[in-house]
Amino acid sequence: DGAVRFEDVRFGYDPDRLILKGIDLDVPAGGTLAVVGPSGAGKSTLARLMYRFYDPTGGRITIDGQDIATVRQASLRAAIGIVPQDTVLFNETIGYNVAYGRKGASADEIHRAASGAAIADFVATLPDGYDTRVGERGLKLSGGEKQRVAIARTLLKNPPILILDEATSALDSRTEAEIQETLERIERGRTTIVIAHRLSTVVHADRIVVLDAGRVVERGTHAELLRRG
Ligand code: ADP
Ligand code: ADP
Repeated sequence: DGAVRFEDVRFGYDPDRLILKGIDLDVPAGGTLAVVGPSGAGKSTLARLMYRFYDPTGGRITIDGQDIATVRQASLRAAIGIVPQDTVLFNETIGYNVAYGRKGASADEIHRAASGAAIADFVATLPDGYDTRVGERGLKLSGGEKQRVAIARTLLKNPPILILDEATSALDSRTEAEIQETLERIERGRTTIVIAHRLSTVVHADRIVVLDAGRVVERGTHAELLRRG
């Protein structure tokens, strides 16, 4: 389960200025939908609506046919994991940041908590040497390591629905490729919405929609979109 649908979704931060102008999307359970488009198109806004940071001003969003406006906030947050582009970490240990508030979580505790997720994939998301650094404070992590912490944190709750909001776009291309590989493994079996601004990073997506100025302007597979230019 975890099928996501947007039906004629409209939204504006300012009610007089619509940012999303009637979005229809369909992500089958376990499938990967990529949303690409230029900066300002409304991609992050779409992610925020899924998590109910805001509610649509028109249309509706459903998970397995149920309008998310009727789902308890706690259930919604358990069902959806978001990895944002810029992760802000607490000035705390890796363990604390992965367990997100479970103070002083040890490597062992984090491992146990991750048992719902595939352990190997989970561990692959952690920064190198996290076993010894898990208790280290005053984090000096690289951008890539920070994103690994963010991914591990999201994976800890083993969400059936995953939203990757330009999760690797701030990284250098080698680090991006490394993390991309891990992400693609984690996406398997989960309903995933990947937000990206380059088509080249979403080759693996089942379907792609191109968003521009709050509207879907193209839909298709990666090969179809390339063929159309
Ligand atoms: P994208 O993710 O495609 O770059 P966004 O969803 O971030 O696009 O932004 C779409 C539009 O909404 C932009 O014009 C942006 O300035 C505006 N916007 C984004 N966040 C807010 C906000 N919190 N308040 C008001 N306007 C916003
Ligand atoms: P939990 O899922 O443990 O209840 P939250 O609901 O606070 O925790 O956050 C879940 C995920 O959403 C975290 O990975 C966090 O980084 C991300 N997140 C929180 N706030 C925002 C935001 N404003 N924009 C994008 N991502 C966010």
